[in-house]
Amino acid sequence: MKKYLEKLPQEMRGLIKLVGDVAAQKNMRVYLVGGFVRDLLLGATNLDLDVVVEGDGISFAEDVAAELGSKLIRHHAFGTATIVSGHHLKIDVATARKEAYASPAQLPVVQPGSLKDDLFRRDFTINAMAVDINPNDFGRLIDFYGGISDLKNKKVRVLHDLSFFDDPTRILRAVRFEQRYGFHIEPRTLKRLKGAAKRGMLEAVEPQRMRDELILMLKEKEPIKALERLHRIGGLAFIKKGLKFTNKTRALLNAVKKEIAWFGKNFPHRRRLDKWLMYFMALIDALSVKDTENICARFAFCKGETKRMACFKRLRPAFFRALSTAGLKPSRIFSLLEPLPYEVILLAKAKFKFPALQLHISGFFRIYNGTRIQVTGCDLQKMGCLPGPHYQEILKKILRAKLDGRAVSRQEELSLACEIIHRQRL
Ligand code: ATP
Repeated sequence: MKKYLEKLPQEMRGLIKLVGDVAAQKNMRVYLVGGFVRDLLLGATNLDLDVVVEGDGISFAEDVAAELGSKLIRHHAFGTATIVSGHHLKIDVATARKEAYASPAQLPVVQPGSLKDDLFRRDFTINAMAVDINPNDFGRLIDFYGGISDLKNKKVRVLHDLSFFDDPTRILRAVRFEQRYGFHIEPRTLKRLKGAAKRGMLEAVEPQRMRDELILMLKEKEPIKALERLHRIGGLAFIKKGLKFTNKTRALLNAVKKEIAWFGKNFPHRRRLDKWLMYFMALIDALSVKDTENICARFAFCKGETKRMACFKRLRPAFFRALSTAGLKPSRIFSLLEPLPYEVILLAKAKFKFPALQLHISGFFRIYNGTRIQVTGCDLQKMGCLPGPHYQEILKKILRAKLDGRAVSRQEELSLACEIIHRQRL
């Protein structure tokens, strides 16, 4: 593995060496594990170092953080800690542990263990390899479960037959890694996966754990393929009983993908979109407002996410009719769209193909959304208008006039402000 480690950026190589040196000073064994090792072998970038120590992980992390002068976040409940180094490097340190599942789909009982135990509790063979980084064995690959061969043969394979019963979130993880790397879930693993899904295991997991895995899937580069595959082999009933991936779902998801690309290409400096949320909204588009509210509550989506989902669901036909009317004034387009989150507007653009609606939404992003007036509160004060909430109203009226081409220059804006103030006084 030395040749792979040598290809890493210098900052990361230095960090790995330092972690190994601290372990040697403390007479402990330390290993790189999990996704970092997988991606190292695949030549993929991964900035999250996953480290396991045989011994107390938190106290080890404290020593590493002290040596680096870095910030440390302790997670006592899990015996883990995160060291944040530099701008983007992160080291997750864990105590090697052994897990026992008292009942399916519930969190396991954990106790300290050896590296071999720690690797055995992992999801797939490709994620269950380790690299020794102790100075005297630096770079030795440890592969108890055939990870390297599965990586070469592009296979996603569980470590034992009950893996998906122990932790059904692995069903989503299997699909995610398969689709991300263009691998295949190997036949026996696929059979076990389907068996667990058929027995309703996905619905037996605490919804918030499913939510987190689903979000990770939706954040992948190709979430549509992953969702379709999940529907075929595992099902989407864990989101809502009867939820299907239909041709209509696929078409809407693809349209969302196009809108995301259009937005990214044309407005790279605007607010970053929550793309995963747009895909999720498209996935559940066929569901009612009530069902959507129930999903938001059950999965405990955060307030902002829930609000955006509810906002799209609650848009009335009258809104779409208005937005699809040809020849709308810019100020009208602005007042229809400005209160809505970007994700909702783009989803509307993906779903409704009326030419006027398309034109109005493009116009909103291209021109109206970026239009600013030059008159300020100070100008209004200078005109003798006392400050108060009516300032907002006055400035809004000026903006609308500007959008419609009725107040183009600063002088015209000022004249209009004067007129409005005068009218209000009458
Ligand atoms: P990604 O590249 O998406 O971050 P990752 O493999 O690094 O993938 P993490 O979720 O960060 O994924 O998990 C780190 C490691 O922890 C995994 O590689 C795997 O070994 C282990 N792991 C994570 N989730 C599970 C799980 N549900 N069951 C068993 N092992 C898991």
